[in-house]
Amino acid sequence: MAEAETETEPEGTEPELIPEEEAARERVRERERREHHAMAMRLVRQYPDPALRVAATAIPEVDDDVRGLVERMADIMRRSHGVGLAAPQIGVLQRVFVYRTGADDPVRALINPELAVRSEETEVDTEGCLSILGGEVTVPVERHERVVARGLDEAGEPVEVEAEGLEARVIQHELDHLDGVLIIDRAPKEDRRAALKELRLKA
Ligand SMILES: [Zn+2]
Repeated sequence: MAEAETETEPEGTEPELIPEEEAARERVRERERREHHAMAMRLVRQYPDPALRVAATAIPEVDDDVRGLVERMADIMRRSHGVGLAAPQIGVLQRVFVYRTGADDPVRALINPELAVRSEETEVDTEGCLSILGGEVTVPVERHERVVARGLDEAGEPVEVEAEGLEARVIQHELDHLDGVLIIDRAPKEDRRAALKELRLKA
């Protein structure tokens, strides 16, 4: 999943600036945004790559190859400024994803993940995906507010993650990737149509 803009720029935390300074900062942010986007486009498979549409297979054993894969994915996610990345997004059709919901949080890996619990309450929020124009296209997606995910960590040990808010959203987004499902599939009809049009024009 791509980093939301509101995440890097929390409202109300920035000191007041005079217009030229604000404009200069805006230019820096715009340049950074373009760089992150270019990086994601280079490193991550892009829609309509068929690898993004395949149901990935379970990992039979967590060995050094899997740990190497997790490390590579974590590196690619960091460099493309994503908050989550699933193996199919780099063309590896195995059930594993990595995520971190804050820039300073440790990267977490979930292998053969499943949702054990989904809250009845849902929430609609805007999502981008590193595989959809490098995060450039965003659409509203309805997700469960809280989930409990189970899987294995890099050591092959069973883990259970209780998540809410952004973390729950990222987990559901990445899990979808393991089943070949993308945000455009989950967006309301009108938003999907607009996103596909943008993709046709820019991709
Ligand atoms: Zn994605």
